[in-house]
Amino acid sequence: MKNLRTLISETPNHIGSSVTLNGWVHSKRNMGQIVFIDLRDGFGLLQVVFGGNPELQAQADQLKTESAISVTGKIVERGGKNVNDKIATGKIEMQAESLEVLNESLTPPFEIDRDNVEDEELRLKYRYLDLRHDRMHKNLVMRHKTISFIRNFLDSNNFVDVDTPLLSAPTPEGARDFLVPSRKYADSFYALPQSPQQYKQLLMVAGLERYYQIAKCMRDEDSRGDRQPEFTQLDLEMSFVEQEEVMALNEKLLIELVQTVYPEKKIQTVPFPRISYKDAIEKYGTDRPDLREDKTDDNLLAFCWIVDFPFFEKNDAGGWTFTHNPFSAPIPQHMDDLLGQKNIENIIAAQYDVVLNGSEIGGGSIRNHNTDALKATLAIMGYSPEKSAADFGHMFEAFSYGAPPHGGIAWGLDRLVMILQNEPNIREVIAFPKTDKGRDPMMESPRTVDEKTLKELGLQIRSTKS
Ligand code: ASP
Repeated sequence: MKNLRTLISETPNHIGSSVTLNGWVHSKRNMGQIVFIDLRDGFGLLQVVFGGNPELQAQADQLKTESAISVTGKIVERGGKNVNDKIATGKIEMQAESLEVLNESLTPPFEIDRDNVEDEELRLKYRYLDLRHDRMHKNLVMRHKTISFIRNFLDSNNFVDVDTPLLSAPTPEGARDFLVPSRKYADSFYALPQSPQQYKQLLMVAGLERYYQIAKCMRDEDSRGDRQPEFTQLDLEMSFVEQEEVMALNEKLLIELVQTVYPEKKIQTVPFPRISYKDAIEKYGTDRPDLREDKTDDNLLAFCWIVDFPFFEKNDAGGWTFTHNPFSAPIPQHMDDLLGQKNIENIIAAQYDVVLNGSEIGGGSIRNHNTDALKATLAIMGYSPEKSAADFGHMFEAFSYGAPPHGGIAWGLDRLVMILQNEPNIREVIAFPKTDKGRDPMMESPRTVDEKTLKELGLQIRSTKS
């Protein structure tokens, strides 16, 4: 009978016994008398030696790299000078007794074990091969560990994970919406959420009190190194809180996350420094200052909070727009100015951003939980009462049923993991990202669709080439 499969990471516990390993042919070296295979599974790498059995050796010599194989043999200790300290299983190897090819691989379009493949289109077209690379594999594992830590932390602090719709309505969150045409309601569109902002506030009205979600957010804006049309947030919201409590909880979560998941990293300053927006601009020329004392150190994390943002700024047309979030509240001492729609340029929002090594990794605010304050915000932005009611009637209505004071935050998870993994862009920590031009060369999206589909949706394509 065939052995049960053993994971490569478990092989050090099996010295002296015969086990079966399944995995991929990472590399092959034919030394004449002996053929060596480095076998890789999802958990490690082990040297497998084929010697002393000409038939088996010939079979091993035929193996193509990246083929999926099953190999049975004895786990033995390596001789002193053959020990490889670079890998966890470097003190042992397998002496192969039998070999089965489970699925042969074509020659991959690039070497899996390479340092770098310049052609990113090619990497993304064959992302499933790109992800076989140890560095990429680690990025996904560490992303998982980060998310898993966050979930456990929030769970033990009474947060409830609630998922909110992807088919939503257009929202004024500052970016362009991705629209989804409705087949049943001709001329109408859903919008993919730019964030779960309104839903999470409605969950506070619903009495959830502590909500979080690892949420997908979609914004139709040009991609950059740290931006993708689709990205992931840790989104959270709390009822009956003040700014201080939301900040304290998030600071604790970030510190414990680093200490547990990235113990090799050092946080430069605890508690995180707090800098007002005005001081940040004056002193550093940016509201995302990189406070690291040593920028060459991969393991140094300089967090800070930026607070006291102006609520409004002038838009291109000369009117007022919000700097962060139309649902934010002003700091309590500026509430009268907001309600009176006066002194607008001086109103400070109860907004807090968390910055790490020069990147904004999160932002949130205390919200307006009463209708008058939200209406005043919209009026300052030039919304007529009719337009406010049409776009936000559901929020006004909800807030009039005893909406609790509430506030929250959202972290850009991809960005955070990118920095923790010392990666240069967020595509390296997302399993299936789009290119910097917003395309997916593997799925070939976006794609055109056939006439029949368009017709069902009541859509007609106007050539954009004219
Ligand atoms: N919804 C906001 C955003 O996506 C974050 C927040 O204020 O909670 O930026």
